[in-house]
Amino acid sequence: MQAIIILSMKKICLLISLATLLSCHNNNKQQTDCIIYNAVIYTVDSAFSVTQAIVIKDGKIVATGKSDDILRNYDAVDIINAEGKFIYPGFIDAHAHFLGYALGLQTANLTGTGSWDEIIDTLKTFAAGHQEGWLTGRGWDQNDWAVKEFPDNRQLNELFPDRPVLLTRIDGHAAIANQKALKLAGVQPGQQLTGGSIETKNKQLTGILIDNAIALVRSKIPEPDRDNVKNALLHAQQNCFAVGLTTVDDCGLRYSDIELLDTLQQKDGVKMRVYAMLSDKPENYDYIFKRGKIKTGRLHVCSFKVYADGALGSRGACLLQPYADKKGWHGFLLSSAAHFDSVAKVIYDHGFQMCTHAIGDSGNRIILHTYAKYLKKKNDKRWRIEHAQIVNINDFKLFGKYSIIPSVQPTHATSDMYWAIDRLGPERMKGAYAYKTLLQQNGWIPLGTDFPVEDISPFKTFYAAVVRKDAKGWPQHGFQSENALGRQEALRGITIWAAKSNFEEKEKGSLEKGKLADFIITDKDLMQAPPDQLLSIHVLSTYIDGDRVFEQTALSESDSNKSK
Ligand SMILES: [Zn+2]
Repeated sequence: MQAIIILSMKKICLLISLATLLSCHNNNKQQTDCIIYNAVIYTVDSAFSVTQAIVIKDGKIVATGKSDDILRNYDAVDIINAEGKFIYPGFIDAHAHFLGYALGLQTANLTGTGSWDEIIDTLKTFAAGHQEGWLTGRGWDQNDWAVKEFPDNRQLNELFPDRPVLLTRIDGHAAIANQKALKLAGVQPGQQLTGGSIETKNKQLTGILIDNAIALVRSKIPEPDRDNVKNALLHAQQNCFAVGLTTVDDCGLRYSDIELLDTLQQKDGVKMRVYAMLSDKPENYDYIFKRGKIKTGRLHVCSFKVYADGALGSRGACLLQPYADKKGWHGFLLSSAAHFDSVAKVIYDHGFQMCTHAIGDSGNRIILHTYAKYLKKKNDKRWRIEHAQIVNINDFKLFGKYSIIPSVQPTHATSDMYWAIDRLGPERMKGAYAYKTLLQQNGWIPLGTDFPVEDISPFKTFYAAVVRKDAKGWPQHGFQSENALGRQEALRGITIWAAKSNFEEKEKGSLEKGKLADFIITDKDLMQAPPDQLLSIHVLSTYIDGDRVFEQTALSESDSNKSK
C-alpha cells in the first residue's frame, strides 16, 4: 500500500513538471519591454555582483540574472544579444556645469590653445563667423604657454575696438576683457571689490579679472533666448550620452535657469537627468523655500552651491600660509566667514543640502568648521565640500566626524600636477588631491569632472582616479599614487556614490530590481582592461528609462520577438 502511494506521488511530481514545461512552451513567461542577455553586467550592487542579463519594463529594471534563467522566465518586445559586451549603470557626474558647458559650446573654444597668439587667431576666425555682438570664449590656460603669465588686452583692443570681448580661463576663475567690455561694465583702474580683483598696471586696466570681478563684465552680456538654450542643451546632452553620462549635477544655477530647464525637459526633448544646485543668491533662497524641493522624473533640486574661495591656478584659493610662488599672498575668501555661517543656518533650518566649493586649506577649514557648528555630530545630511582640493592634514578627520562628504574631481589632480607644487611647496602637497585619504573618512566618495573646466568624459575621471596619470601617460609611476582609488571604488564613485551624494541611491546608481533602467554598454571592460587602454573604451549605447538615447554601432541584430 505504502509503495503504491509513493509511486503515485512520483507520478504526480512528473505530471507537475510536465505541466510546468508545457506552460513555458505556451509563452507563460512574464511579458516585458526589453531583455539584454549574454553580457557582462556590473550591477554595482553592495556585493559588486556581476551577472549576464537584464530585463526592463516601463523604464525600470525588472530583473537581472543568468542569461538562461532570464530567457526561461521572461519574454520581451526587444531581445538583444549583447555578444559578451559590458554593461554598467549610467554614469553620474557629481560635479559639473551642464548649462555653462552647453552655452560654452556656442562660444569660441580656447581649450588646449598653446599661446596667446593662438588665442588671437582662434578669436579672429570665430569673429568672422559670428559677425555681431559680444565675442566670448572659454578655456585658455597660461600654464600651458611658454610664457606662463597672464596676457593683457592690448591686441584685443586693437582688433576689436567696437565689439566687447570676454575670454574666460579654463577654471572660470579668471578672465580677460577688452576695453570695450570694461567700459560697458564701468570698470575703473584701481577699483576694489570683495572676493575678486581687477588687475591694474601703470594705472591702466590690463583686462585681467579675477573671481568676483568677472561678474561685473559678464552681467552685461545679453541673455541667450529660449531657443538658443534649448539647442545648446540638446547638443550638450548628446555629447554627454556619448560618454555614458545619464545624470549630471549642475553646481550653481539661478532659479530662472531651473524653471527653464524644467520646461525644456518636460516639453522639448532634454532627457538628461539633472541634480541642480541653486547658487547662493537671496532670490534663489526665497524662490525654493516658497516652492519647496523639486523632484520630477528628470530634475531634482534640494541643495545650494556656495563658493568659499577661488581656484589654485589663478591663485584665488585661500591658503593658511602664503603661496610658495607669491610672497605674502594667501588668496582670498569669496565671502566673509559670517556669510557662510548665516547661509549654513538658513539651509540647515530648511532641511536643504549645502555644497560648498573649497579649494585652499584655509577655505576648507572654514567650511568644515561652519558645517560642524550646525551638523554637530555624525548625521545623514550629506553636506558636501566640492573639490576639497588642499586639506590641512589635521583637518581630514573632520569629514568623518561630521559626515561631511568630499566631492572630488580626479582629473583636477592630473591637470594641476605640473604646477600645483609651485603654488604649494612639498609639505602642503601631502594633503592635496588626497582622494584615498578623503574616501577613508566616510567610506564613500562621489566623483565628477567639473566640466567644462575638465573634459566631460567619466572614463578620464576613472583613469585619473585609478592610474593617477594624464592622457599622455605622465608621470610614469602615477602622481602621488598612494592616493589612487581601486577600480571598484572609482566605478562606485561615478555611479552609486554619486547617486548617494544626490540622495538618489534608492532609484539609480546600480542595476537592481526596481531601479531606473539607466545603463550603458561598452566595447571593453572598464574593470579588466590594461591601464593604457582605459581611455580607448567606447560607449556603444546609452539608455535612460530603458530608452536608447545614444548608439554608436549596432550591437547585433535585435530581433523582435526572437524567442516566440
Ligand atoms: Zn565647479
